Amino acid sequence: MAVLIVGGGLAGCSTAFELVSRGQNVVLVESASTIGGKVRRYGCKAADRCLNCGLCLVGDLWNQVESHPQIQLRTETELLDVMGAPGSFSAVVRHADSLDIFDGISHIVVASGFVESSRAAVGAVEYSHQAPGIITGLELEQLMSERRRAALWDGEPPKSVAFLQCFGSRSLRDRAQYCSRVCCSYASRAARVLKHYYPDTRVVFLHMEQQQVEPGSYWQSLEADGIEFVRSRPVTVRVGPPHTVLYERSVDSTIVEESFDMVVFSEGMYPNPDGERLAEVCRLSFSDEGFLKAVRDSSETGVSVVGCAGGPKRIEEVVAEALQTARGICGGVR
Ligand SMILES: Cc1cc2nc3c(=O)[nH]c(=O)nc-3n(C[C@H](O)[C@H](O)[C@H](O)COP(=O)(O)OP(=O)(O)OC[C@H]3O[C@@H](n4cnc5c(N)ncnc54)[C@H](O)[C@@H]3O)c2cc1C
Ligand code: SF4
Ligand code: SF4
Repeated sequence: MAVLIVGGGLAGCSTAFELVSRGQNVVLVESASTIGGKVRRYGCKAADRCLNCGLCLVGDLWNQVESHPQIQLRTETELLDVMGAPGSFSAVVRHADSLDIFDGISHIVVASGFVESSRAAVGAVEYSHQAPGIITGLELEQLMSERRRAALWDGEPPKSVAFLQCFGSRSLRDRAQYCSRVCCSYASRAARVLKHYYPDTRVVFLHMEQQQVEPGSYWQSLEADGIEFVRSRPVTVRVGPPHTVLYERSVDSTIVEESFDMVVFSEGMYPNPDGERLAEVCRLSFSDEGFLKAVRDSSETGVSVVGCAGGPKRIEEVVAEALQTARGICGGVR
C-alpha cells in the first residue's frame, strides 16, 4: 500500500516526509523537473536580525524527500486517471510518452499549489515583465535569495522603489476578491532588507489594506525605519525608466503621479489552472475563490487537499496542515 501525493512543493513534500516517518510508503508525482515548488526559490529576509519569514521551517526537506527509500519520486510526471475506491485506488500517471499504473493506493493527497498573479494573466495595472526595474514578488524573492552570494544589485542601487500591494488581489475586475494573505508579509520584510542595505533608497508602499504580519506595532516600526505608506488604489504604471506610477490617494481621492527607479508588483495567489482537471480526476470540488476542496470528509473519500491548492497560506500554515493531514491518514490506514 502507498499514499499518492500530487505536487512536490512544500505541502506535498512535508506530507510525504511525515507519512514515511510514520511507516507509510509514498508515491510523489511532480509535474516540474525538480521538487520544492515556489518556496525553493525564496530567500532569507533577515536584515540585522531574523525577520521570521518562515523559510527556516523548510530546513533540509528537499534532500530528505529526494533521498528517502520509501518515497518513489516521479518528476515531470502527471496524474491522468484514478480508478477504484478509497483504500484501494489505482492511479494512472504519464511521464513523457510512457504510462504507468500504481495499484494499492490507499489515499490521495492533492498538493498542486497555486500560480502567482502575474502568471494568471491578470492585473490591476498593466504588467510588463520585460521592462528592467519592474519586478514581481517572485523576482523579489529571488533577489533575496541571490543576495547570499552577491550584492542585491550589480551597479548603482535604485534611488526609489514603489511596492504595489494587492497586485491581482482584492479586485472585482481581476476575479480575486480575496486577500492573498502573504504579500503584506513577504513584501514588507523584503522592504526592510532594502532599507537596511541601502538607507538612502526611498521605499514607498502603495497599499489598499494592511494585514497583521506580526503582533504589536509592526507597521509603525517600518515607518520608524523610514518606509513610507500611502493608502491608495493603483491606476496605471507607465514604463520608463524612471517608471511612473499613477495612483488614487484614498485620503482625498486625488490622482498622484510619481516616478520610481524600481516598481515591485507584490503579487498574490491564484488557483492553479490545472485544478479543474485534477478536481475531475480526484473527485474534488471548489471553494468560492476557485481553489480546490474535498467534497466530504477525507476519511470517507480517501482524497485530501493540502497547502495552497486549497487557498492562500503561509509556510508555517502549510507545514502544520501537512503534518495534520499525514497524521489523519495514518490514523485511518493500516
Ligand atoms: C511571491 C511570494 C512570496 C512568498 N513568500 C513567503 C514567505 O516569505 N513566507 C511565507 O510563509 N510564505 C510565503 N509565500 C507563500 C508560499 O509560497 C506558500 O505558502 C507555499 O509555496 C505553498 O506551497 P505549496 O506546496 O502549497 O504550493 P507550490 O509552492 O505552488 O507547490 C506546488 C507544487 O505542485 C506542482 N504541481 C502543480 N500542478 C501539478 C500537477 N497537476 N501534477 C503534479 N505536480 C503539480 C508544482 O510544480 C509545485 O512543485 C509567498 C508567496 C508568494 C506568491
Ligand atoms: S530564512 Fe526567514 S526565518 Fe530564517 S533566518 Fe532568514 S528571515 Fe529568519
Ligand atoms: S496580504 Fe496584503 S497585499 Fe496581499 S492581498 Fe492581502 S492586503 Fe493585499
